[in-house]
Amino acid sequence: MSAATTETKGLREGAFGNASALSCRECGNQIDLGPHYACPECFGPLEVAYDFPAVTREEIEAGPRNIWRYKALLPVPDDIEQSPNTEPGFTRLLDAKNLAKELGIEKIWVKDDSTNPTNSFKDRVVACALSAARELDAKVFACPSTGNLANAVAAAGARAGIPTAVFIPSNLEQPKQVNSAVFTDNLIAVDGNYDDVNKLAQEIAAEEDGWAFVNVNVRPFYAEGSKTLGFEIAEQLGWRLPDQIVIPVASGSQLTKVDKAFKELIKLGLVEEKPYRIFGAQATGCNPVATAFKAGVDAIRPVKPDTIAKSLAIGNPADGIYVLDATRSSGGAVEEVTDDEIRAAIVLLARTEGIFTETAGGTTLAVTKKLVETGVLDPSLETVIINTGHGLKTLDAVSGIVGPRATIAPNYDSFEEAGLSQA
Ligand SMILES: *Cc1c(COP(=O)(O)O)cnc(C)c1O
Ligand SMILES: [Zn+2]
Repeated sequence: MSAATTETKGLREGAFGNASALSCRECGNQIDLGPHYACPECFGPLEVAYDFPAVTREEIEAGPRNIWRYKALLPVPDDIEQSPNTEPGFTRLLDAKNLAKELGIEKIWVKDDSTNPTNSFKDRVVACALSAARELDAKVFACPSTGNLANAVAAAGARAGIPTAVFIPSNLEQPKQVNSAVFTDNLIAVDGNYDDVNKLAQEIAAEEDGWAFVNVNVRPFYAEGSKTLGFEIAEQLGWRLPDQIVIPVASGSQLTKVDKAFKELIKLGLVEEKPYRIFGAQATGCNPVATAFKAGVDAIRPVKPDTIAKSLAIGNPADGIYVLDATRSSGGAVEEVTDDEIRAAIVLLARTEGIFTETAGGTTLAVTKKLVETGVLDPSLETVIINTGHGLKTLDAVSGIVGPRATIAPNYDSFEEAGLSQA
């Protein structure tokens, strides 16, 4: 989707709602809204800037029970609800009392995004990217993905009637492959890791006309979708911010946008201003941001991922430096955990709260546990953790540590002999 194509076509009035420009995160340079993601001056990443009108809690509460209740705060047109989309969001915020007891902390909430239409938080970002792709008149809706994004793009494109093409590392978990292929003929497995797939997507985006890669050339619009996690958490807490929040980090987009959401709510007077601490969670097998955090440096050194947390396996995270900013300036931290700790945390969440999370959620909970044990997270303060995906997509991660206790013949004697009658 070259800039020329869209500029000659022109955008319809209000195509991006209250968004006013694309603003460079590095130099502050502002450019017109369009399929751009890098600053023409300094190549820094662009983000959406707004001219917000007055927005009230009542207006939001009167909206639909999905992310479009926050449409005034997103780069989408006012008539967004007329366009088919997967309508994600407004997932439950669960008061996790059993988990709190287990962790030895006062209050912990689980924001359970595994119940989105394709069972991960990616439906939120894809809904916003799809709106941008439509307004920019894209011909193909596409992405490089660590798995969940491909599921969300393929499903949303199917519902919207736009051709899709999703690119994944060829070693991806089988359930995530099937969860994409069921929606699209164009699941492309690439022999390489996510960072290789991402580089390929950038090349295609530069060569082919009319391809909207959600997390490449329409990334600024895509990224705004993660703000809805922050908006919902605040609204569901009764229009207030939590004291501490733990968020998984792949590219780092979600974490930085939840922070942006909290700041916007304060600025708009929708919540009271108060300090909150943001924590990032990574796997030891892909820990570039945690490593930089601990070393106290500003630069991220890319790594080659090797972890069961494949949805977080981005070795060269685009927003890593902004994760360092958000965690450091809020008094938080970025921590990492091993694959075994991730597996144990998946089982812990399942057995305390009845939630089956994928490896990313296991990472987030394991990091939370570690932060409590090391005294970094204050157990007397209210904490929110985000469960970003569903365990049915990463069954292999725990199939080796849980399973049948016994296999018995279909008669009572056999049941008794196996010692199950007192169970
Ligand atoms: C993509 C993904 C993340 C992290 O997203 P970023 O915004 O790239 O940091 C976390 N959890 C799951 C399940 C994901 O699919
Ligand atoms: Zn710039």
